[in-house]
Amino acid sequence: MKTRLAVPLLDLEAQYRPLRDELLGAITRVCDSQRFILGPEVDALERALERAMGVSHAVTMSSGTDAILATLMALGIGPGDEVITPSFSFFATAGCIARVGATPRLVEIDPATFNVDPASVRAAVTPRTKAIVPVHLYGQMADMEALLEIARETGVPVIEDACQAIGAEQHGRAAGTLGAAGCFSFFPSKNLGAFGDAGLVTTNDSALAHELKLLRNHGAEPKYFHKRIGGNFRMDALQAAVLRVKLPHLDDWTEARRATALRYDELFLAEGLQQNVALPREIPGYRHIFNQYVVRVPQRDRVRASMTDQGIGTEIYYPVPFHLQECFASLGHARGDFPHAEDAAATTLALPIYGELTFEQQHAVVAALGEALSA
Ligand SMILES: *Cc1c(COP(=O)(O)O)cnc(C)c1O
Repeated sequence: MKTRLAVPLLDLEAQYRPLRDELLGAITRVCDSQRFILGPEVDALERALERAMGVSHAVTMSSGTDAILATLMALGIGPGDEVITPSFSFFATAGCIARVGATPRLVEIDPATFNVDPASVRAAVTPRTKAIVPVHLYGQMADMEALLEIARETGVPVIEDACQAIGAEQHGRAAGTLGAAGCFSFFPSKNLGAFGDAGLVTTNDSALAHELKLLRNHGAEPKYFHKRIGGNFRMDALQAAVLRVKLPHLDDWTEARRATALRYDELFLAEGLQQNVALPREIPGYRHIFNQYVVRVPQRDRVRASMTDQGIGTEIYYPVPFHLQECFASLGHARGDFPHAEDAAATTLALPIYGELTFEQQHAVVAALGEALSA
């Protein structure tokens, strides 16, 4: 086997280096202030996010998971309620539904986009349905137009899991701004990454924003007088300071990622690999932000092992759909219930993607995948 240029799945260092002084300056400012929880840094970030995202309220949270959890709590969802969500996503989506005591009502995905299938959502609505939680997986939006139509007809709110999709659009409308609320993650590997855990809820509903602010601080208003049983879902000032430095660069980073994705497409075509490698598809009129560049390949696990041997980092997002997870056995599902979700779990492979990826690195990834397939 040829030795290749090693390519890590993710290289955060490349983004950090040019901003190092500015980031350390922002961190020093917080240290000097000795104000670490919420406060002026977090307020300033929230105002900046509201402007950048075009929403009335940006309510920061301690993580993307807590953003989803707090939103479900704020909408009063709990035992006896059903929440519709796709069977194929990161665990937090279904985990939060179960944590508030509601039942995740799992549905099938569209195999072309990996996002929730609106027809399956419509078929799953019952009198107990209290929310629909689509996921904008890998950075491309689920069909919010179809989902909002279902929401209008049924009166059920849509909570967008936009954790992988900051900056994504459907016909010019931004992810996380269309439903009752949008949940975002600033986990370091997301397109806008903090230096630790952090998250966000966006909403245009002032009452919901107020409830979220209560819940993230143990439901207290004023301090030590508890209106609700909330939690500690607060963002800390160090994360806010880091995100304030990074936010103005997000759009350029997104464009660089999109260019990187396009270059992968071209390389796969040039190498004649499109027969065996199903490339991610950007739906016309959508803006995919490529938090992940995910292909489908035959014999995925063997291909992945070969790429690892060739020094190329890859990952599987996600190997087990929710309906086959051990912790959801009580939902009573079996293999075969959601064939498209199962097929996605068995065939998808995420390749390295970040704006700083060089042509040589991308060529090494594509060549390694070609060699893995022909071995
Ligand atoms: C990252 C992610 C989350 C959770 O975000 P954290 O900040 O890691 O808690 C939820 N849903 C999806 C789809 C994600 O990708």
